[in-house]
Amino acid sequence: MQSFTGVGVSPGRIVGSVRQMPKAVSEPPAGEQLASSTTAEDAAVTLRAAAKAVQAELKQRSVSATGAGKSVLEATALMAADPMLIKGAVKLINTGTSAERAIWESAASVAEMLHNLGGYMAERATDVLDVRARIVAELRGVPAPGIPASDEPFILVADDLAPADTATLNPAVVLALVTSGGGPQSHTAIIARALGLPAVVAAVGVESITDGTAVYVDGAAGSITVDPDADQLEAATAWAANAATLAVFSGEGAMADGHLVPLLANVGGAADAVKAAAAGAQGVGLLRTEFCFLDRDEEPTLDEQVTAYRGVFDAFPGKKVVVRTLDAGADKPLPFLTDASEPNPALGVRGYRTDFTSPGVLKRQLAAVATAAEGTEADVWVMAPMISTAEEAADFARMCGEAGLKNPGVMVEVPSAALTAETILGEVNFASLGTNDLTQYAMAADRQLGPLAALNTPWQPAVLRLIQLTVAGSVAEGNNKPVGVCGEAAADPALAVVLVGLGVNTLSMTARALAAVAAVLAKVTVVEAQRLAGIALAAPSALEARARVRAELPILDELGL
Ligand code: PEP
Ligand code: MG
Repeated sequence: MQSFTGVGVSPGRIVGSVRQMPKAVSEPPAGEQLASSTTAEDAAVTLRAAAKAVQAELKQRSVSATGAGKSVLEATALMAADPMLIKGAVKLINTGTSAERAIWESAASVAEMLHNLGGYMAERATDVLDVRARIVAELRGVPAPGIPASDEPFILVADDLAPADTATLNPAVVLALVTSGGGPQSHTAIIARALGLPAVVAAVGVESITDGTAVYVDGAAGSITVDPDADQLEAATAWAANAATLAVFSGEGAMADGHLVPLLANVGGAADAVKAAAAGAQGVGLLRTEFCFLDRDEEPTLDEQVTAYRGVFDAFPGKKVVVRTLDAGADKPLPFLTDASEPNPALGVRGYRTDFTSPGVLKRQLAAVATAAEGTEADVWVMAPMISTAEEAADFARMCGEAGLKNPGVMVEVPSAALTAETILGEVNFASLGTNDLTQYAMAADRQLGPLAALNTPWQPAVLRLIQLTVAGSVAEGNNKPVGVCGEAAADPALAVVLVGLGVNTLSMTARALAAVAAVLAKVTVVEAQRLAGIALAAPSALEARARVRAELPILDELGL
């Protein structure tokens, strides 16, 4: 029986057939000429036919798509037949350029023109580049890039997924995600958890599995097995039966001894917030405000910001909503704040630090949060990402005060902040541990890189110690400030137990994970969680920490988590 091992990042046991994600389309060589066997006229006809075929395919897919995916497909379909795009390419073909190269160059000029127009038009530039890749694939007779279109459910195998792939990923058809690249904190992992799909990342060799092969994926164990046996088929059936239980969260996180652990949601905007509220989230522990403006070239206006934030506040009347100020940079560049040419973006001017180079943006954002909070019933808290020193924390608290925001806090995601938590928490009212970045910085391992996935896990005893230190600082004399976790660690039910055992007060996660985390916490007392935290801290490695804690929590296996 052939099997592959990676890092399990989203639980679930499933059997299905594999579809490989086609590779990205390579650029046709500059200066590539028409083949001698063809005429410019024929090449133009072939190109038009390819563009039409791409348009028809996208249109057809848009019919069955919904929400954001539908609009992306409709916009891309329109672009496929754009007269300027095709005319530009035909002009080049008439000068002897090959059809592939001609469409490549024509699309580049159209994209640049759109980009220069700014605003909505600039956002269409990516659609043109997507269409170009599809037309070139059609001309080459290879599968179109992106997630394969299919009515039959399948297990998607890819190198890694980009945030843009989320729009066309239909969770009714994609049963599970398996990637050869990516780490536990990569986009694939975050997308999978948000959609509730079983997922394994950094599984070396899976690119060799041929389309149509039946495989068994265990998203908790991190394994993929070709040609599943009867036991695995049974495990998949049992998981499907359990999935219904794991989909319902009662709306209150509580331990077996009655100790309450509020379970909050991570959201990227109003639509997410509405879903999270419906899923029973007890508030929002992380509003990633940069997600509201990821595709923007310019700073959003006050009104735009107020509308975006108010949409979230309105979904949680009477509940806590923690707004994180713009966390621009590294994997989340915002052209109006970050410098794309930095040599080390993860260590660069990102998060709170953008206030050093673009003063005013943060101040205006805080004013927008304060305006949005007026007249809503949400209990609005505000925190800054990437705080490294107590001076920065004090400065942020001062800015919040000036904006009339009463509950300033910081994210603890840089090791220096964990080490100096006692002083930092003397300046602000709360801390939220961003375990994704805290892990990448503690281990000096880029969170997006597959080969570093084994380093990049919050089960690392070093990371757990930084969490322990943060909690110790928060309860040091004179402080007594709450500490939450809003990194992906909170969505891992076994790690959630350890975090509570370490003294964390609240957990914030993708809404999909709430029920599973609640189900496991409900089986454990605080004393038991403290014992398990001790086991994890004392383990010699991340793998051992995870294995030893999981061995003490049989409920995980019962629920297939
Ligand atoms: C984190 O770093 O853990 C976090 C929650 O922030 P993000 O994933 O948005 O960087
Ligand atoms: Mg972070």
